[in-house]
Amino acid sequence: PGLLDAGFLRRWMTAAAASVDREADRLTALDSAIGDADHGSNLRRGFTAVASELEKEPPDTPGAVLALAGRHLISTVGGASGPLYGTLLRRAGKALGDAAAVSRQELADALRAGVDAVRQLGGAAPGDKTMVDALVPAVDALGTSFAAARSAAEEGALATTPLRARKGRASYLGERSVGHQDPGAASSALLVAALAEAAGE
Ligand code: ADP
Ligand code: MG
Ligand code: MG
Repeated sequence: PGLLDAGFLRRWMTAAAASVDREADRLTALDSAIGDADHGSNLRRGFTAVASELEKEPPDTPGAVLALAGRHLISTVGGASGPLYGTLLRRAGKALGDAAAVSRQELADALRAGVDAVRQLGGAAPGDKTMVDALVPAVDALGTSFAAARSAAEEGALATTPLRARKGRASYLGERSVGHQDPGAASSALLVAALAEAAGE
């Protein structure tokens, strides 16, 4: 039986917006080391827009919440992360269809389809030092629990530090990208933590 309704998905997006707002300076500091110092402000702009749109006209299915969020991230974020996160959520929303409520496993399967779409769009594989390094272990662990997904995403994000970037702006630095955590992997860990928070885990 489906337990996760539109209200749950809206709580996820609201918790994500609050977390990105709190952590924006840290995300931007990570991006200043190996990018162009805008990741926190990019995501803050995007998730602020998502939260305000969800409040204005709350969609009544889980799929519609994710589709709306994805659309607004694509149109407001600017920067590589906007189309990537936007594609993730739009693709996941599409996978959920018009179900009124879904199970954790159905959400996990939908988010996996979203992560696959991110990999296709950006061409990054695990180990390339991107958001994919946090997202793939998170969707793998989501079959177990929300809390397991949060831990997996955090570990995946921390594990990007010793890697050399092979995608995105950080890849222009070559060897000099080694020793810094990837900002997109760090923000992915925040988004997965917000999901666990919405679930009360
Ligand atoms: P920009 O690099 O355009 O300024 P952001 O700073 O908002 O965009 O986002 C940077 C993050 O986006 C990176 O830390 C990385 O995790 C992610 N990223 C960039 N390019 C790719 C890609 N091709 N595939 C997956 N993730 C990527
Ligand atoms: Mg940037
Ligand atoms: Mg930029």
